[in-house]
Amino acid sequence: MSDGTAAMGRRNRIRVHVRCRRCGRNSFNWSKRYCAACGFGRSKKLRSYNWVKKKKDSN
Ligand SMILES: [Zn+2]
Repeated sequence: MSDGTAAMGRRNRIRVHVRCRRCGRNSFNWSKRYCAACGFGRSKKLRSYNWVKKKKDSN
């Protein structure tokens, strides 16, 4: 029933994303065992998409 805004106080109890040991970002999903940022644990290649804009490109 009341699982709306009142339940926000119960957040950040379980750390879903911990520090990835490949990319160093805090994006390693501990339960799924893969990094959301670099794909560590899911694929051997680095996760990269062309829609990811890391730096501002000089166009
Ligand atoms: Zn990573």
